[in-house]
Amino acid sequence: MTNKVRNLVVVLGDQLNLDSAAFDHFDKSRDLVWMAEVRAESTNVWSHKARIAVFLSAMRHFRKELEKKKFPFIYRQLNDMANSGSLAGELDLAIHEHEPVKLIVVQPGEWRVLDDIQRVCSNAGIPLQVLADRHFYTTLDEFNQHAAGRKQLRMEFFYREVRRRTGILMQDGKPVGGKWNYDAENRGAFSKAGPQDIPQPHPFKPDAITRAVLKLVEETFPDHPGELSDFDWPVTPRQAKKALHDFVGNRLADFGDYQDAMWTEQPFLYHSRLSAAMNLKILDPRDVVHAAIEAFENGEAPLAAVEGFVRQIIGWREYVRGVYWAYMPGYLERNSMSASQDLPEFYWSGKTEMTCLSDAIGQTLKYGYAHHIQRLMVTGLYALLLGVDPKQVHQWYLAVYVDAVEWVELPNTLGMSQYADGGVMASKPYVATGKYIKRMSNYCRNCPFDPAKATGDDACPFTTLYWDYLQRHKKVLSQNTRMALQVKNLDRKKPAELAEIRKRAEELRGSYAAKPD
Ligand code: FAD
Ligand code: SF4
Repeated sequence: MTNKVRNLVVVLGDQLNLDSAAFDHFDKSRDLVWMAEVRAESTNVWSHKARIAVFLSAMRHFRKELEKKKFPFIYRQLNDMANSGSLAGELDLAIHEHEPVKLIVVQPGEWRVLDDIQRVCSNAGIPLQVLADRHFYTTLDEFNQHAAGRKQLRMEFFYREVRRRTGILMQDGKPVGGKWNYDAENRGAFSKAGPQDIPQPHPFKPDAITRAVLKLVEETFPDHPGELSDFDWPVTPRQAKKALHDFVGNRLADFGDYQDAMWTEQPFLYHSRLSAAMNLKILDPRDVVHAAIEAFENGEAPLAAVEGFVRQIIGWREYVRGVYWAYMPGYLERNSMSASQDLPEFYWSGKTEMTCLSDAIGQTLKYGYAHHIQRLMVTGLYALLLGVDPKQVHQWYLAVYVDAVEWVELPNTLGMSQYADGGVMASKPYVATGKYIKRMSNYCRNCPFDPAKATGDDACPFTTLYWDYLQRHKKVLSQNTRMALQVKNLDRKKPAELAEIRKRAEELRGSYAAKPD
């Protein structure tokens, strides 16, 4: 190949799909694929070792595919001597070396990355073509049309629109089974005996490529959080499909009933563990949705479970992406409840007496995984009630989960869990006392605190902080009709008890150290 290329086709670490628009008009004699592993993408937030490893391993397996299919490519490894350490630096070098006529990229998963690429191209004076990401069911234009003119966005209305447009779980223009949503049937808890004999997810033993990556990550990022000894995530399309069929065949039928339940030392329960594979684009959400619907049609899974699962993918997953791109870059700076507390250091170690938090954080550090309710109603709820600066909460979530990419992480964290976007994602803050956690888990059984108590030495910190949160934000919350009952209950409390709660909440806030820089 001569030095001069026609198109430099950028493939980012979360765009590992040969069917993507980036390859539509690829000419192997004139175009060049560009990929780079760079340090900055693992250090801009203090990334969990497993998160770094998932990306690098999946990228290296994708490189093998490029080799097999004889694509011309540049692939910069993390440990290459001349690696500049940043995407912008590496891209700039490649542009100067190969002088492409044009740069092509599919819409990235992070605003910052798109901004970097645009700046590099503009400085180099070459045109950039940003292509729509066909991985998703909804284009960004379709989302913006949905949002236009609405006073308030709500996932449910968007979800129904996607169902109508795609025909998923629809019959004769009506929802299959007569109801749009089986959410009310998705809130079961386990009996006292706990979950019994849940088929464990199929593990993917690291192959030579993954083993090399695990070693590299340990050596390059020794002080980063998290462990690698249990690393078994799918990192190729074949493994991702296997993980999908393992889930559909073994756990989907009970997904609905126990979607919100939690149990000590049961990190995965009936969840699919497919988010990382989908977010890397090694798994097509259409394959996931079709497999779930097929299980329903074959009588292998009930409608409530299948609708509940499909809603997460064609509803929530698509919706949060629309919100992200509609509101960025300003969204990142939102802090509607003026929260300013530092994130307690125990979020990085799991070392706390609170069983629910130590379990949810402990499994996060072990696997890079926690399921939705652990993220929303344990780690997220505690940060919200404590009044932690939402940007610090966001940086933690972006760092510690193997599925974390900003387009999906940020609206979930800043919007859904911290209510920092002023109600774009959620119509009210997701706040509750420790009694919610008691109802949905066995955590409180082995905890020194009592979820029913807001004051006293054994008061549950969630419960204390819940009443404190309502007091601190009463003015704003009183204007929200969906919070009326909770505010009314606050008004029933005696002034002396409220003063005691405020005192204990202040003590709690003062008792936490932040992670040293
Ligand atoms: P399952 O419970 O099996 O659900 C099936 C699929 O539905 C998931 O794989 C996922 O793709 C999708 N899904 C479910 N809930 C959501 C949601 N709220 N938003 C978008 N997609 C959803 N998900 C991420 O993929 N990356 C993140 O960085 C991320 N950060 C989160 C941060 C917070 C504070 C919260 C509350 C949620 C976050 N989520 C994130 C959403 C959700 O928690 C994860 O998608 C889910 O836990 C992944 O596990 P699973 O694959 O076993 O999911
Ligand atoms: Fe968590 Fe409170 Fe229950 Fe302890 S008592 S596990 S802190 S909710």
